[in-house]
Amino acid sequence: MFERYSVEIPSSDEDWMKLAYNAALDAFDAGEVPVGAVIIRESQLLAVTRNGTIENGSVLGHCELAALHRAAAIIGDWRLNDCTLYATKEPCPMCSGACVMSRIGRVVFAVGDAKMGCLGGCGCDFSKHSGFNHFFPCTSGVLEAPCRELLQKFFQMRRSEENPPGHRKNPKLNSYGV
Ligand SMILES: [Zn+2]
Repeated sequence: MFERYSVEIPSSDEDWMKLAYNAALDAFDAGEVPVGAVIIRESQLLAVTRNGTIENGSVLGHCELAALHRAAAIIGDWRLNDCTLYATKEPCPMCSGACVMSRIGRVVFAVGDAKMGCLGGCGCDFSKHSGFNHFFPCTSGVLEAPCRELLQKFFQMRRSEENPPGHRKNPKLNSYGV
């Protein structure tokens, strides 16, 4: 129903977001809320992750957290000052907070979230909150239409199902092994 992008040598925000979109599509196929994330450093890909909240049985399964976790493991430092996070949806309070705490260099997202987005969407913007000690630039709207379409289709399908996938029980450990 939806096609994956083929990106040979990603070089623009849109190219990197296409990789995040492909990950979101993996989430869609797995019955998870279709959001994907990518982290790069100096044009090098560090992490590609998809939402896994149901699979992990934990709210910590958001793709942005998994991407921050993986990127930190690869570079051997939890501080990600020179990294850029791409997410197909505006990060929620938890993930926006994790971006602040990881000292992320920049965030790019596709679809804004007026309800839970904490990079300006819901009325608060963690990227420039005067009470915090880390600030980062944000870009929104990159590859917005296809990422939005995927989310809309997912929730449309979920509403029409008798047993929404979000209600499945899965005792598997999360990706952090806890
Ligand atoms: Zn989140």
